[in-house]
Amino acid sequence: MRRKLVWIESQSFQGWACTECAWVFNPLGPLVGKSIDEMKMHFEQQRDKEFTSHVCAGHPRPKTNPC
Ligand SMILES: [Zn+2]
Repeated sequence: MRRKLVWIESQSFQGWACTECAWVFNPLGPLVGKSIDEMKMHFEQQRDKEFTSHVCAGHPRPKTNPC
């Protein structure tokens, strides 16, 4: 089982999530940076850091029927 960071879009949520659990990325506070590129870079760094450090077992998925 190899977890991956994926972009998901649904009626109730849009954003980055883990393929193996219910973890989703919640950006903390406003994006900072002197330019769009810098803001994007910070966002991606924060996202990757949060993703790498989360523990899948700590974010169990609610049981749903697979489609
Ligand atoms: Zn996970």
